Amino acid sequence: MTNYRHCRTLLPLLLAAFVLPGAAAAEKLPNIVVIFCDDLGYGDLGCFGHPTIATPNLDQMAHEGQRWTEFYVAACVCTPSRAALQTGRYPIRNGMCSGQRRVLFPDSKSGLQPSEITIGRMLKDHGYATHCVGKWHLGHLKPHLPTSHGYDSYFGIPYSNDMDAAPAKLTRKQRFWSPQVEYWNVPLMRDMEIVERPANQHTITKRYTEEVQQLIRKNKDQPFFIYLAHNLPHVPLFVSEKFSGASRRGLYGDVVEEIDWSVGQILGTLRELNLAENTLVVFTSDNGPWKSFQDHGGSAGLLRDGKGSTWEGGMREPTIFWWPGKISPRVVSGMGSTLDLMPTFAAISGAKLPADRKLDGYDLGPVLFHGQVSPRNEMFYYHGSELYAVRQGSFKAHYKTKTSYVGQKEAVVHDPPLLFHLGHDPSEQWDVAADHSEVLESIGKLRQQHLDGVEPAEDQLVKR
Ligand code: MG
Repeated sequence: MTNYRHCRTLLPLLLAAFVLPGAAAAEKLPNIVVIFCDDLGYGDLGCFGHPTIATPNLDQMAHEGQRWTEFYVAACVCTPSRAALQTGRYPIRNGMCSGQRRVLFPDSKSGLQPSEITIGRMLKDHGYATHCVGKWHLGHLKPHLPTSHGYDSYFGIPYSNDMDAAPAKLTRKQRFWSPQVEYWNVPLMRDMEIVERPANQHTITKRYTEEVQQLIRKNKDQPFFIYLAHNLPHVPLFVSEKFSGASRRGLYGDVVEEIDWSVGQILGTLRELNLAENTLVVFTSDNGPWKSFQDHGGSAGLLRDGKGSTWEGGMREPTIFWWPGKISPRVVSGMGSTLDLMPTFAAISGAKLPADRKLDGYDLGPVLFHGQVSPRNEMFYYHGSELYAVRQGSFKAHYKTKTSYVGQKEAVVHDPPLLFHLGHDPSEQWDVAADHSEVLESIGKLRQQHLDGVEPAEDQLVKR
């Protein structure tokens, strides 16, 4: 097995160096960087319309690349959203979603199963250096950590930054709205060891950034994949001294502006090393804003609701693709998803997609590089292990709805489903079901077809 894997790793490099025509040397395989935020809302960036958060680096990135306005994650909370990105599969297929416990916690005994193939694994097997920095949240025990899932290294807080509350007699308001590092017993890990506890979260964005810059320098002569998953702007909010008080939007804005600075540093390092024109960088977030935290949560802009719900604000994310000289700059209104990253990365690198399992993504290359329409025409909105809504083309049907985090204990069943035209009505205000029975019928067929093709995996989130 080891030898086989070794061969799989070396083969693409040897082919590139000696067999492919021209000087298609190994280093010409494109580098890939994914920057994934936590709970950043659709409306939280300048280039997505925020009036008082300044994001000049992301705005410039969007100006030079593609700003995707209808880009989705496959779950409205952290763990399943990350599982979908890493595996290119709806989390119902790998047990990383649950109606009972929606995410992994510090007392969880399980995580992403070893049989799952991550983007890191796929690209490592193709000869890439692979590194994970930041929030993993797919299991903090050894069999489930990034270095057990195809990553050469890991540096980060393995779950949410509000988990592991340290014992202290504090009100919720004190703990969250005036956060101190010692209020949380959050670990910082390097590979499989805890190196700091509690992690100093004030400097975490800065340290993640420096780690990524070092990794880029270290790997500048070989293809690399870096997955940077920020812990912020998930509450509790922490910011380094330099950005404290910097934003007109208060502490939340300070945190987002530090992330914007981080993006500038990373793109700057790629430019400085002449790697920019051989590197695809993707920026997005794992789910919508945590609105119940008021001004410490973000904004979904004109989209309805936020984190924890299957309304658009919970699952549509501010997304930018950047690859100077390769991606033609424009605003893309076609659909895309984090599910599509794995097939897209496979296509640009020549890496092999896992052939023995059902994947749910599309290669977005035709949109990114050739100005074509998106191959994605549907999206399935899961709430835990249950399918709540389906989008087909411009229409979205809700079979169930539940407002995020505030008050509503039981989901509301809609029969007939609610129907919204997301082109005319991106805020999902006007139900047009009565006028479009043919659309409901078509979406109903698509929904059933999807459900018939899903075999739910054993629930991993409930294991304690
Ligand atoms: Mg999140």
